[in-house]
Amino acid sequence: MSLQKTTSLPPKRTLLVPHKRRLLPVTSSLHRQSTLNPSAAPAEIQFRRPVFSSVGEEDEKKECDDGGGGRQKSQNDAVRTVEFDSSQAPQPFLEPDVLARMRERQRLKLLKDEQEAGHSTTSSRGSAAGNVPRAGLDTEREIRRRALQTEYGTLYRAYSKMPRKRKSPDSPHAEASSSATQRNTSTSNRHNGRTNDINAPHPGAQQAEDFGIVLRDFYPPEMSNARCEAYNNGTLPRPIDTLNRAYEETEDERKAIMRPKNAVVHWFKTDLRLQDNRSLKMAYEMAKQNDIPLICLYILSPQDLTAHLHSPARVDFVLRNLHVLKKELARLDIPLYMETQEIRRNVPRRIAELCEQWGASNLFANIEYEVDELRREAKLVKLCCDKGIAFEAVHDTCVVTPGALENQQGRQYAVYTPWYRSWMTYLHGHPKNLDVVDAPGQNAGKARTHFKDLFDSEVPDAPGNKRLGDEEKQRFSEMYPAGEDEAMSRLDKFLQEKATDYGKMRSMVSGQHTSALSPYFAAGVLSVRVAVAKARDANGGYLDGKNAGLSSWISEVAWRDFYRHVLVHWPFICMNKCFKPEYTNIEWEYDTELFDRWTQGQTGFPIVDAAMRQLKHEAWMHNRNRMIVSSFLSKDLMIDWRRGERYFMEQLIDGDFASNHGGWGFGSSTGVDPQPYFRVFNPLLQSEKFDPDGAFIRQWVPELRDVKDRRAVHDPYARGAGAVAQRAGYPKPIVNHAESRDRALQRYKEGIARDK
Ligand SMILES: Cc1cc2nc3c(=O)[nH]c(=O)nc-3n(C[C@H](O)[C@H](O)[C@H](O)COP(=O)(O)OP(=O)(O)OC[C@H]3O[C@@H](n4cnc5c(N)ncnc54)[C@H](O)[C@@H]3O)c2cc1C
Repeated sequence: MSLQKTTSLPPKRTLLVPHKRRLLPVTSSLHRQSTLNPSAAPAEIQFRRPVFSSVGEEDEKKECDDGGGGRQKSQNDAVRTVEFDSSQAPQPFLEPDVLARMRERQRLKLLKDEQEAGHSTTSSRGSAAGNVPRAGLDTEREIRRRALQTEYGTLYRAYSKMPRKRKSPDSPHAEASSSATQRNTSTSNRHNGRTNDINAPHPGAQQAEDFGIVLRDFYPPEMSNARCEAYNNGTLPRPIDTLNRAYEETEDERKAIMRPKNAVVHWFKTDLRLQDNRSLKMAYEMAKQNDIPLICLYILSPQDLTAHLHSPARVDFVLRNLHVLKKELARLDIPLYMETQEIRRNVPRRIAELCEQWGASNLFANIEYEVDELRREAKLVKLCCDKGIAFEAVHDTCVVTPGALENQQGRQYAVYTPWYRSWMTYLHGHPKNLDVVDAPGQNAGKARTHFKDLFDSEVPDAPGNKRLGDEEKQRFSEMYPAGEDEAMSRLDKFLQEKATDYGKMRSMVSGQHTSALSPYFAAGVLSVRVAVAKARDANGGYLDGKNAGLSSWISEVAWRDFYRHVLVHWPFICMNKCFKPEYTNIEWEYDTELFDRWTQGQTGFPIVDAAMRQLKHEAWMHNRNRMIVSSFLSKDLMIDWRRGERYFMEQLIDGDFASNHGGWGFGSSTGVDPQPYFRVFNPLLQSEKFDPDGAFIRQWVPELRDVKDRRAVHDPYARGAGAVAQRAGYPKPIVNHAESRDRALQRYKEGIARDK
């Protein structure tokens, strides 16, 4: 199935440069941003602008009322590619009316909280917290009171007396946390050791540090639950707000940046593709209109790779894709300049420096929604501005932009099903959202003459701690060949051969019934919009309904969007907290030997071991198995799920923060829309149901290959195959599932109660 060009769209005309939350027309003769007044924009643009905007309140109600239905056939029968028209391009920020609504709600809530606080606590010590709104703090105090009575409490008391480790100077939180520490001291004194202020570490912070959950070389200690609440109630700005604010604050300077100078730059990050890359396309069009070259840039930051736990397999995959990308771009006379920046704090400065060096006054990049990245981009906006460079960060990685979907109370959804209905309704209402922007064409402006050297730029080497051995390199490059063409042909093959059975077969762990496209999505080699649009077309134009397999696959892909929406709204999940912060108060185990048995696939639970061994060998795992092993670690072994989350990131080729965190939150019941904590996966039942013949187990656990009985292979020691298993060196189960289950229920119950 190939991407088809649409002929019915109006011809491309004025280039629009996104500015603030609007798209500003740039006349090709003047090449400059001419107005901020949307009403001054041509009628056609007004008409087309809502393509990437959020649903209005009225629309939202209407859409909710029809139950997310509207399961009508999409207007488009084929994936449509559009000749670039920036009214089709994403707006970098939320629509002004959506932002205004959000801010107004926030303001009213703060007002209400303050009024309530004024009534109830004139003499309360809590009022000493200055202008910190009191919402939730009483509850927090109670959490502290209870937490201090537990083992954690003892630990916290010890911790608070310990000298603090020096913060790494490049920590993005360094400034905030050093002032936090100062404020913390005074507040703690005031509160007589109580930790109800937002700057105190969580009582379990030392444990989180000791077991490598919080990487203190880069980040401050684990934050308190009160700090999570502060993000929720607007006391602390969300990183997306910080980015928005950076744009607001630089509005005048950015307006003053005149016509593009010698070149336009696109900065590649997790968007390693040409097709349907919105920022790349915007950069290309701007360069073309001004007859100047487009330069592409990639910066490898070893510290980022370490701080963000990228696996060697993933780093290798990225570097292999850069090789392909470099070649593809060179064919279009577009140079891809690559370099390594050891110190991640220096990345924004270096990018601005390069733009200056190249005489580029316009830089484009797609937005990554993780906290460090949003803060980095906010910094870059300002840095660039100071140097007369306009930096445009573009929404690209989701099908529906985070922030565009709100429930009827105007809140972000925290449950998948209604969110998905709203996501689907949004797409029915905005079918152009799935229009695919085509790849850039031939570079304009004599790039090969003016920027000749850049074409010789080499793909950087993987840093030492992220390097694969030769055999692994070979293995992974055969399993996951690099390049957009490969991703596209895998997608096509999956849609033709497997997708219609996906609904029935997707949970079966033996054989390949899912797309295995996750490495390509995670590195941005494949656009998620292309995938959804192609699946829709394979489904006769339907996004939902009709073929159960295809619509079910689309709804799985939607999970990826869901977790990103969650990340943007609840950013503390990116800082080693769970979505339900109170679940941090559960008493976890930190038994290193049990944890190692889990990572090595030596637990004596065949399905768990098979999955964990596959992960080691293939750097990938089936979704069902991810659920089984995450539940096993957090509930059967009661081990802090964040250790598993980290281990996954360090192994997976498709490691993706939002999806991984979401998956671990689900498995450990600490996340957004998780399975309830009292539903503990039984590994044996899961194994029998999703690997009925034991073929998957036999594939990955050779010790059990001689166990022919299809029942015994799931539990050899209890089902008459103990002697065979023992002879082959397969371990007995390291825990008794029934007992572990009871312990888990007890621990969860107690942990949550600490929050009451
Ligand atoms: C504990 C745990 C950890 C996980 N860690 C990651 C991770 O680091 N990276 C990652 O991409 N996915 C992760 N997932 C989600 C899911 O397991 C994988 O996306 C999926 O197994 C990838 O295989 P596939 O490409 O064949 O998926 P398919 O079933 O073919 O689905 C197509 C695509 O939809 C998306 N998708 C499907 N299911 C989910 C889901 N539950 N959550 C989010 N996206 C989904 C993925 O991008 C996937 O490639 C995790 C799930 C769990 C339970």
